[in-house]
Amino acid sequence: MKKLFIVANWKMNGDKRFNEQLMRYINEQVFKNSNLEVIICPPFTYLTQILELKISCIKIGAQNISEKKDGAFTGEISGSMLQDLKLDYVIIGHSERRQMYNDDDNVIARKFELAHQNKLTPILCVGESLNERNHGQTLSVVESQIKSVIEATQIELFAKSIIAYEPVWAIGTGETATSIQAEEVHSSIRAIIETYDSNIATSIPILYGGSVNAANCKDLFTMVNINGGLIGGASLNGEEFVEIYQTAEKIINE
Ligand code: PEP
Repeated sequence: MKKLFIVANWKMNGDKRFNEQLMRYINEQVFKNSNLEVIICPPFTYLTQILELKISCIKIGAQNISEKKDGAFTGEISGSMLQDLKLDYVIIGHSERRQMYNDDDNVIARKFELAHQNKLTPILCVGESLNERNHGQTLSVVESQIKSVIEATQIELFAKSIIAYEPVWAIGTGETATSIQAEEVHSSIRAIIETYDSNIATSIPILYGGSVNAANCKDLFTMVNINGGLIGGASLNGEEFVEIYQTAEKIINE
């Protein structure tokens, strides 16, 4: 039976009141299930609030981590600070960070390594732009994004990591990759990892992200190589998010 992950990326949204209402709703609908993991990634300032509010089977992740260990880096949040909060996950290489905050392959590899050093499971995001897809470069872009991290670190770290395939053109646009388009990339990602380690290639969870919602998640999550979703916009709506969760629950119970 495959394990599914439902990851909420709240991005820079929410406030104490909104978060509390959303978490109370989610808490009531989510149940412990070893084949279904719910991970909430709120903004840094609300991590403590959500850690206190959430039920125990829900895991918490940060949306970013500094590529520096510690020191004079005003405004940055280190891996050891995230570990101090006992977080489980951290999103790395989200396309918004790649595009707007200059997180290049070197920075991403460093963040990936620091996540592991601080016992956080990285959710490594990869994906092509619309222009790259239109030029037939999807697979080569994803391959180079993944290989740059493997080669700067070690393949063994991927045994405890998650990859999220997020085509940039599908993030926050309402446009989703079809389940066939996504599956093609996901199976290619396993093939890339297979060239380094076949066990990791089989076991690594590969999530899809890009306008996932309650209406399209079933088609995506039932694909062989898709292990759940990284969900932005739809994770801010309790009912929609819970519907996605319940769809995943039905799939793993089938
Ligand atoms: C994301 O934040 O990673 C994302 C996929 O956003 P959305 O679901 O809004 O497209």
